[in-house]
Amino acid sequence: AREALAQAQKMEAIGQLTGGVAHDFNNLLMAVLGSLELMGKRLPDDPRLRRLLDNAVQGAQRGAALTQRMLAFARRQELKPEVVDLPDLVRGMTDLLQRSIGPRVRIETRFPLGLPRVMVDAHQCELALLNLTVNARDAMPEGGTITIAGREAGAGDAASLPDGRYVCLSVTDTGTGMDAQTLARAQEPFFTTKGVGKGTGLGLSMVQGLAAQSHGRLLLRSRLGEGTTAEMWLPMAEASARHAEAPGPAIRQRGS
Ligand code: ADP
Repeated sequence: AREALAQAQKMEAIGQLTGGVAHDFNNLLMAVLGSLELMGKRLPDDPRLRRLLDNAVQGAQRGAALTQRMLAFARRQELKPEVVDLPDLVRGMTDLLQRSIGPRVRIETRFPLGLPRVMVDAHQCELALLNLTVNARDAMPEGGTITIAGREAGAGDAASLPDGRYVCLSVTDTGTGMDAQTLARAQEPFFTTKGVGKGTGLGLSMVQGLAAQSHGRLLLRSRLGEGTTAEMWLPMAEASARHAEAPGPAIRQRGS
């Protein structure tokens, strides 16, 4: 619990810091882009100069896109937990997920019938699932299958979870896996092994933050060379699980 608190405080501090820095950076980059655009209009007809200018514009644009993501991260809104049917939520976004990861990797879903519903911010849960799915894709450069599954906590899971009843939303890949050092640091904000301009190192810390704020957990299991399973454990929406037929709180419906 002390670790979780330290992590939360770290995220908070980083959120404030990145918010300020990203804002200033964004303004600077906008000025750079504006000047480059003016220069482009007056550039003599020289392909080499043109290429240099294009490089500069692309770099500044990538920087701007990155600061936008940092701002979005810093502005994390208050969560609005609601009763969510995970199979429903996943069904509603499989097309989006498949488009986000491209055609080389296939998505399979596995949900048992009657999986209890959970309490979570539905929109943030979708973003978390997108992050996990993109990570899974990145771990499988040769292609493969990503399995998105749901299950109720069993006796074997209790040790890793706080008291209460939980449902797990997991994303499994058969990719590179992580070595022990990477696994230990993977959830840290800004930790990335993907190289400059590719990874931000914010994906898993976002998912971890959402799980923790939802009173759940993010657990990572990984074997080098075999693959990774990211498990987002979320608290069961008890009332609706026990009295399925009674009118419960409003349930978010998703188009199929
Ligand atoms: P990013 O994806 O931008 O690097 P994340 O916080 O999502 O940031 O992930 C941090 C690091 O954890 C990644 O750079 C990678 O080394 C490792 N990682 C995350 N998911 C996986 C996965 N499914 N397979 C292998 N490594 C992973």
